[in-house]
Amino acid sequence: MTTFLGLPVHAPRGVGHLRGDEPFPDAARKALANTQLRRNIGHATATIRAKRAAVVAELDDWEQLRLAGEAIKTATMLRLDDHLEQLERRVTERGGTVHWARDANEANEIVTRLVQATGESEVVKVKSMATQEIGLNEALEEAGIAAFETDLAELIVQLGHDKPSHILVPAIHRNRSEIREIFLREMAGVDPELTDDPRRLAMAARAYLRRKFLSTKVGISGANFAVAETGTMVVLESEGNGRMCLTLPETLITVMGIEKLVPTWTDLEVFLQLLPRSSTGERMNPYTSAWGGAHTLDDGSPDGPRDFHLVLLDNGRTATLADEVGRQVLNCIKCSACMNVCPVYERTGGHAYGSVYPGPIGAVLSPQLTGVEDNASLPYASSLCGACFDACPVRIDIPSVLVHLRAQHVEEQKTARRLPTPEAVAMAAASWTMSTPKRFAAAEKASRAARVLGGKKGRISTLPPPLSGWSGSRDAPVPPKETFREWWARTRDVPS
Ligand code: SF4
Repeated sequence: MTTFLGLPVHAPRGVGHLRGDEPFPDAARKALANTQLRRNIGHATATIRAKRAAVVAELDDWEQLRLAGEAIKTATMLRLDDHLEQLERRVTERGGTVHWARDANEANEIVTRLVQATGESEVVKVKSMATQEIGLNEALEEAGIAAFETDLAELIVQLGHDKPSHILVPAIHRNRSEIREIFLREMAGVDPELTDDPRRLAMAARAYLRRKFLSTKVGISGANFAVAETGTMVVLESEGNGRMCLTLPETLITVMGIEKLVPTWTDLEVFLQLLPRSSTGERMNPYTSAWGGAHTLDDGSPDGPRDFHLVLLDNGRTATLADEVGRQVLNCIKCSACMNVCPVYERTGGHAYGSVYPGPIGAVLSPQLTGVEDNASLPYASSLCGACFDACPVRIDIPSVLVHLRAQHVEEQKTARRLPTPEAVAMAAASWTMSTPKRFAAAEKASRAARVLGGKKGRISTLPPPLSGWSGSRDAPVPPKETFREWWARTRDVPS
């Protein structure tokens, strides 16, 4: 097996919810036709953008913090094997059990087995991108286990039989009245007089969730960070529902991508400043929960869950790590700032990306986890304007990775077809034509024939294949009546 930086490299066979049923342009076209969706997303992203800009402007050392975040993450990735082993040792010493999962299927099997071993048929969940990525809820359902999302936005998505469309605000595509309708339709025991007042909606969700927290014995979470030096998992959240899930159940299972590590608490301090400002536009997030293995108090009674399991997920990450340009996407702290500034995301919303990771980060992360050929349209889902890089708290150069993945896609196509691409044929023809003055002059004269295509408009809108792909989205000017060389010869009295 190939290894890189001490870790076995598993082929990018990320499975789960990482690709859509149709290419991005087709899905985006449908999303663009949905005016309500565009209005909801435009309003929500503009609000979060303004909040973020205000709290970031308060810090004189924001750029230094970004540089520190980038440096810590980059150095951590280069010694990920050591840090992971240290994390495993520390978690085990503190009474937890560590499991390693090569892909989504293995992770789902491990979690399902652990839940079945408790004899329970219900679990409560903290908001987690990793469990969405692997499709854990569906896997549990197949095994007869019901998973209840407890994050308010995730609950709205789950009750609406919907898909998340934003990393931080999964129900960003829904407005208040849509949420009220979902609650009235799906939430057992809800007040039929429920209004779309945000406070009333939050109270309805709280009453529903409290019953679940008090009766469910297994909790499942993700983690924003794991501190290797002490074997501590960390979750940042706004509602307190996460803390209920992390402390009330008897068994806690955490599923975490292997890239979520930071070596020390001193390193964590940098990210605790970067993440809340970049994601929710807050100086501090309301709840930061940290936990390790299983604890008991001095009198022997349990302090929090009696059983703790950590599932470390690869699912295409080691293959991403082995790519010199692409590995920087593993530095992502899933703040979603890049989505909120992206002109493409703002118009299409998250569903068009087909993956649980939408927006600019999704366009570079999903194709690397699955292999570019399985998500080939995503690296093109960008105008390369660079706003994502400017907003990213760990300075991931998303535009460069997009270009790198596009090049990889073109190379893969060439190899697969063993035929030159239309671009390569066009370039070879241009090279042959331009290599002698005579051929070039003949080509210039011949190009005048294209003037008829311009008609009265003086612009060419339709060209025959293979050039039709180019003219499908832009016009070309008609060739001039006289070429530069003819003009030069005429005005300088030299033979053409
Ligand atoms: S790429 Fe950067 S801005 Fe986007 S979610 Fe990740 S950390 Fe945040």
